Amino acid sequence: MDAWKVELAEAFTDPKRLLSFLEIDPDGALADDAALNFPVRVTRSFAGRMRKGDGLDPLLRQVLPASDELLAAPGFATDPVGDRNAAARRGLLHKYTGRVLLVTTGACAVNCRYCFRRGFPYQDQQLTRSAEPTVLAYIAGDESIEEVILSGGDPLLLGDRRIGRLVASLAQIPHLSRIRIHSRVPVVLPSRITDALVTAFAGTRLDPVMVIHANHPNECDRSVGEALERLRRAGVTLLNQAVLLRGVNDDAATLAALSERFFGAGVLPYYLHLLDRALGTAHFEVSEPRALTLHEQLRRRLPGYLVPRLVREEAGQPYKTLL
Ligand SMILES: *Cc1c(COP(=O)(O)O)cnc(C)c1O
Ligand code: SF4
Repeated sequence: MDAWKVELAEAFTDPKRLLSFLEIDPDGALADDAALNFPVRVTRSFAGRMRKGDGLDPLLRQVLPASDELLAAPGFATDPVGDRNAAARRGLLHKYTGRVLLVTTGACAVNCRYCFRRGFPYQDQQLTRSAEPTVLAYIAGDESIEEVILSGGDPLLLGDRRIGRLVASLAQIPHLSRIRIHSRVPVVLPSRITDALVTAFAGTRLDPVMVIHANHPNECDRSVGEALERLRRAGVTLLNQAVLLRGVNDDAATLAALSERFFGAGVLPYYLHLLDRALGTAHFEVSEPRALTLHEQLRRRLPGYLVPRLVREEAGQPYKTLL
């Protein structure tokens, strides 16, 4: 079995074991009932970058169930960004001109507590193998589509062969010019970025783009840098999208360090998202005025190319709303 599959199978799914690995007393730190709604999953690699003994570690906070998740909050719902209305075919979202997004799987290497898709009905929405021909026909039949985004869940949990076949089929559609992957895997499971995967993704005529997802500078270590280097060497354009999260990255110094650290690994910042209002995530929200202040501070201290675009996704809008 591939090393990354072994590592995935060994991920923490019991929060008590994660806390004991981190030498944190589970009494008081743990909200068991919150894990019932959305299971815990954390790779050892990601956990290895958390500070021992620190219950407020910014990486831990992203993955540890909190009792606040169970509080009702007005405006927070299961489909905050209108994905259900954007499904043009099973597994295919067509919201924006020129690009479509494929929901390739519901699985992720890490379950992020703030995730906007935590309530998404993957069982009936994900792109099964048998639904692929219908989706390929849809894309082939619409010449306005230039780019296909593989998303999920996390598309890099699919096997190399499935990814390779899908990308090769897309490369045969003449009006496509770019293939994009949205994935947290280079950060949370860097061993997954094997040469075989890189070839499957970047080995066709389509220009490859990968949008990774990191929220805090501590998420970048040597193993992540090496995975990103493998992608870069194959000509993949690397971008990062982050979510602005209370208690994780809601200060200008952390956001600046995030841009700088990942730029050092060949990644340019793309989007800084305001939280999508998914059920159970209200305690992560940063208010819009505060977000604007932080963004202004970032512009004062960083070169323009290291400042991410501050955006919010609004259901029914033709692009992500710039703030
Ligand atoms: C965010 C998103 C995209 C990509 O938008 P970009 O602004 O091109 O990054 C495409 N499709 C859907 C459904 C999306 O949610
Ligand atoms: S879809 Fe992205 S944000 Fe959501 S749990 Fe998976 S990796 Fe985390």
